[in-house]
Amino acid sequence: MSRSVLVTGGNRGIGLAIARELAAGGDDVAVTYRSGEPPEGLRGVRCDITDSAQVDAAFKEVEETQGPVEVLVANAGITKDQLLALMSEDDFSSVVDTNLTGSFRVAKRAVRGMMRKRSGRIVLISSVVGLMGSGGQGNYAASKAGLVGFGRSLARELGSRGITVNVVSPGFVETDMTAALPEERQAEIKKNVPLGRIGAAEDIARTVAFLAGPGGSYITGAVIPVDGGLGMGH
Ligand code: NDP
Repeated sequence: MSRSVLVTGGNRGIGLAIARELAAGGDDVAVTYRSGEPPEGLRGVRCDITDSAQVDAAFKEVEETQGPVEVLVANAGITKDQLLALMSEDDFSSVVDTNLTGSFRVAKRAVRGMMRKRSGRIVLISSVVGLMGSGGQGNYAASKAGLVGFGRSLARELGSRGITVNVVSPGFVETDMTAALPEERQAEIKKNVPLGRIGAAEDIARTVAFLAGPGGSYITGAVIPVDGGLGMGH
């Protein structure tokens, strides 16, 4: 089974692990990247997801090289942490524009082909913070909680077309994004993880591959925590 897959932000971190996992399973995988070189062994398409013209061009390139996208993983995301009193409107709106509206842009473009084919898999990468909240991350948490409502609405809208839409909520995962946090904060988070360790990008990748594969055939509208138990109860 070789499907046409697109992973946004698949040039590093969690997205890269997801892309490698799906490619190892035999899929044709393209990743978006904004600058530099795409990762070795994967097809790179240049795309900033805040720009719908670039999104459209990236999809066209993928369609020409590996066929219409059958599996979309909306993973690209950013943080701009700040306490509310100090957060600028741009800090808020740019995070929402990337994490939530960016996912809207790629999902909207992807479903065209999926609806025609009457099948497809969409996985949105949210965060444990979307449901738990996190001081200093009002912008990020709002964008990630938004993905839950967005994804579940799509699941209802697109189910009759054979398209599943699920949300994966990672906990604390070792990537460039979390390396930026002070050591004490990292230790504090780890203390609250029942499994007692920080997640690896591969932990998230295996769950995404499951949802995108035969195991996910009857799962839609789900929010799957992959967080070592950190967000339990939320
Ligand atoms: P990284 O910071 O390591 O990577 C972010 C990725 O997103 C990069 O590939 C980056 O591309 C891409 N990206 C950011 N903005 C844009 C944009 N406008 N257009 C296209 N690509 C963009 O993050 P992680 O791998 O840690 O995170 C991946 C996802 O997982 C994010 O959505 C994040 O919120 C989520 N997540 C991460 C957690 C963690 O603990 N690490 C926990 C919970 C959720 P470029 O290289 O060009 O900058």
